[in-house]
Amino acid sequence: MQSGGLVSQSAPAIVWFREDLRLSDNPALHAAVASHRPLILLYIHDEETDGLRHHGGASKWWLDKSLRALAGDIEAAGAQLTLRSGKSNEVLDAVLNVTGADAVFWNRRYDKPERDLDARIKADLTERRIDVTSYNGRLLNEPWAVETNAGGYYKVFTPYWKQARQCINARDTYGRHKTLNGPDVDSESLDDWGLHPTKPDWSTGFDDWTPGEDGALARLKEFLDGPINGYKDNRDRPDLDWSTSGLSPHLRFGEIGPLQIWRAVHAGMEAGNIHEKDGMHFLSEVGWREFSHTLLYYNPDLATENYNDSFQHMPWRTDETALDAWKKGQTGYPMVDAGMRQLWQTGWMHNRVRMIVASFLTKHLLLPWQEGEKWFWDTLVDADPANNSASWQWTAGSGADAAPYFRVFNPISQGTKFDESGDYVRRFCPELKDLPDKYLHAPWEADKATLKKAGITLGETYPKPIVDHSAARQRALDAYDTLKEKR
Ligand code: FAD
Repeated sequence: MQSGGLVSQSAPAIVWFREDLRLSDNPALHAAVASHRPLILLYIHDEETDGLRHHGGASKWWLDKSLRALAGDIEAAGAQLTLRSGKSNEVLDAVLNVTGADAVFWNRRYDKPERDLDARIKADLTERRIDVTSYNGRLLNEPWAVETNAGGYYKVFTPYWKQARQCINARDTYGRHKTLNGPDVDSESLDDWGLHPTKPDWSTGFDDWTPGEDGALARLKEFLDGPINGYKDNRDRPDLDWSTSGLSPHLRFGEIGPLQIWRAVHAGMEAGNIHEKDGMHFLSEVGWREFSHTLLYYNPDLATENYNDSFQHMPWRTDETALDAWKKGQTGYPMVDAGMRQLWQTGWMHNRVRMIVASFLTKHLLLPWQEGEKWFWDTLVDADPANNSASWQWTAGSGADAAPYFRVFNPISQGTKFDESGDYVRRFCPELKDLPDKYLHAPWEADKATLKKAGITLGETYPKPIVDHSAARQRALDAYDTLKEKR
């Protein structure tokens, strides 16, 4: 789908990169190239427009590397990535003025402040006879494209995905643009944007990632060449390498588009290289990303307001000490602590463990899900306005098609079931590494001699549990009962 009018053939055009930091299958770039104009390839670092949510620390780390990769790819194609900071509308005006460009191409965004900003800019530029065309470069289906029979959006995933799969754009993916032409325009230096952390540099554990389009395509290829077969069975196992694709930050920054994934998985299934059950299950997870974007589009306050209004009455607690212990991975529950430390050290956490730690925060600690959403926003390299808020609300029970509130994940049995080998906890909680498997997920159950042999003193080398599992579970259920009374 495209919006906007015809463009003339001579003056330069601006391609405004935003959440689409790639040269292949980028519909806005593709259309701009097809217009045969000189191109100004622009990225704006906008921390000034009111209402936009700024990237958290881990996302800034990623953005820094992703922009460097994009700049390198553009240079290799013979052009230049122009970097500017400031209010988006003012930067665009300045670049339009200095270059004489009379057209702007971009791929659409779906959270409300960005949508509103884009609509204001488009209205203003159109009035000044500058042509703006926008495209879908981020989703298989845009939120409004999948409707129920009655009109309106789906609130339950299964029927949503059944319908969404039928609506997917039939176009082929666009190949990578190897040659790009355009004038050199004054650019700021990425080094001056301070996106990489210093004093201290907490990102040393992030080095296994390869931000950028090449990193994204290589990761997809490696995943589809092997690990995808087994995905349905292994996707809940944080102790296994490659149990999931690790594509989330690449998707977040648009270094790869979902249509590229969709086409590649289908090609693999048709060629008989990817088992249908694994391929389809993997694509259904990409479908959750689509569903989350739909929820965000129709519920712009998803990151702060309960989707389910009755949760306004939830008697959340305030407890800075418990919140801090959760953030630091010091709750005394190894599976929770391993997850929170994986997040801090690598900028990412396995999906199963995200659910466990989110359940622990909102149920065992009875702390508001918004606290967790904010912490994830700051610490995840894939922090995404749609996926993060929809998933937090899903786990807390306040979301659309959410896990029922009475489903309280047991961090001990979740650990023994999904970290069967114990490798995950041993990797991120090395102080527990010598504990026998039997006690690894509940160290307080080990006798003194076993603890001593493993070099553990509870309360000193590893925390005692900050809450008792059964009592905390009951407290959560009682709190939930008060909601039922208020309905
Ligand atoms: P894979 O299993 O390989 O899945 C492929 C892709 O599908 C992912 O890259 C992602 O884009 C999408 N996907 C997978 N699971 C989900 C899901 N449950 N909801 C929406 N999309 C999904 N995902 C984010 O991308 N950003 C977030 O900020 C984020 N916050 C989360 C917070 C909580 C509390 C929870 C429970 C989940 C969150 N997720 C988030 C969803 C999910 O955990 C991650 O997408 C997934 O772990 C990424 O790893 P992967 O790329 O290896 O996933």
